[in-house]
Amino acid sequence: MRIAVIGAGISGLTFALSLARKGFELDLFERAETLEEVGAGIQLSPNASRVLLALGLGEELSKCIVAPDKLQIGNGQRLNLLATLPLGDWARARYGAPYWLVHRADLQDILLKAVRRETAIHLHLGAGVDAFSEQDRDVTFQAVGEKHHADLIVGADGLRSVVRRQLVSGAEPSPSTHVAWRVSIDISATPGWLDTSCTTLWMGPGWHVVHYPIRRGERLNIVAIEPQRATGSAGPKLPHAAPEIATFFASQALREKWLPWPLQTVDPNLAWAKNRAVLLGDAAHAMLPTAAQGGAMGIEDAAVLSAEIAGDGSLPGKLARYELTRKPRVRKVVSMAESNLQIYTMPSLVAGLRNTALLALPGEVLMRRQDWLYSFTA
Ligand SMILES: Cc1cc2nc3c(=O)[nH]c(=O)nc-3n(C[C@H](O)[C@H](O)[C@H](O)COP(=O)(O)OP(=O)(O)OC[C@H]3O[C@@H](n4cnc5c(N)ncnc54)[C@H](O)[C@@H]3O)c2cc1C
Repeated sequence: MRIAVIGAGISGLTFALSLARKGFELDLFERAETLEEVGAGIQLSPNASRVLLALGLGEELSKCIVAPDKLQIGNGQRLNLLATLPLGDWARARYGAPYWLVHRADLQDILLKAVRRETAIHLHLGAGVDAFSEQDRDVTFQAVGEKHHADLIVGADGLRSVVRRQLVSGAEPSPSTHVAWRVSIDISATPGWLDTSCTTLWMGPGWHVVHYPIRRGERLNIVAIEPQRATGSAGPKLPHAAPEIATFFASQALREKWLPWPLQTVDPNLAWAKNRAVLLGDAAHAMLPTAAQGGAMGIEDAAVLSAEIAGDGSLPGKLARYELTRKPRVRKVVSMAESNLQIYTMPSLVAGLRNTALLALPGEVLMRRQDWLYSFTA
């Protein structure tokens, strides 16, 4: 079968690798000339790290990740911790795979090197695909001035997927009301009150902040999510934040480094597969980052779709099974991300109840609520 994958982000690279390991030959088309991720981090929960470990990437990843031993949740108005959830050995034992924090550039670099080692993957960089046309027997499209034929076109081309636009006529992403401000800094530039060893979530009225170490603990990744404002601004506002947070966020170390990322989503209920085209990752279901699962779902999609393609049956049957098995899980994750946003940003009046509940519940009990998500094997 001739397979063309469009997009070499986390989802496309993982899919190409998974499929090549199952004995398939494929072409991978990426619009960018060189693959360079912005200087930001990504949290890889056990459901995602399990897939990367199965692809044999554990040794290389272990050289650049941080495996935190806990996740802290705190009140960002007073800078007091409300809950500490176990990760580290506890998570590895419970879920059979680790919870990792990684620089996106490191993850992409490791995936790309593994892809380049596979002779069955023909990687085309600087090869944007603008449209495809479907005939009875194949799909054709143009890339780098050449006409290509495939039996299956796989859209791993992210939020603004051209494959999705064609598969579901004109389906555009929906803008969210929120923006994510992102920055990554040298760990030596962080203030003493900030725990640089683990993931910490600070919740405030209308906003929340997550920070965690990346690159073996050499850098700190910070994400602040708040409502979008009409007027331009150079960084997050975070009204009523504790003075320590407000001072640090306005400090020289962070000022002018904040990158705004207006959040957008793609309705996961739209079609993901039709005839000879199929979607995975953000192309199918870009979601809010408030469950830290967008990349993980793309990695899971890659494992499930490659297994379906390598299995028995007709191509339409395989694509239908992929869509049928993945959609309910992705929908559940999307609604978890939406409700997390509500919980993390509660107004002060009701936040007291949330904070009391967090203080009362043991961290292990809180973490067990993620069992359905983290113990999944794609
Ligand atoms: C603030 C923030 C924090 C996040 N944190 C986490 C987290 O902690 N954990 C987690 O799991 N997820 C997280 N996510 C989500 C995660 O970043 C995304 O879900 C993931 O990167 C999507 O990967 P992808 O490969 O599907 O798409 P993309 O990364 O968008 O890759 C698509 C690729 O396709 C290429 N492309 C696009 N169009 C074409 C074309 N026409 N022809 C050829 N190539 C094309 C692009 O150049 C790109 O390389 C976060 C997201 C945000 C915004």
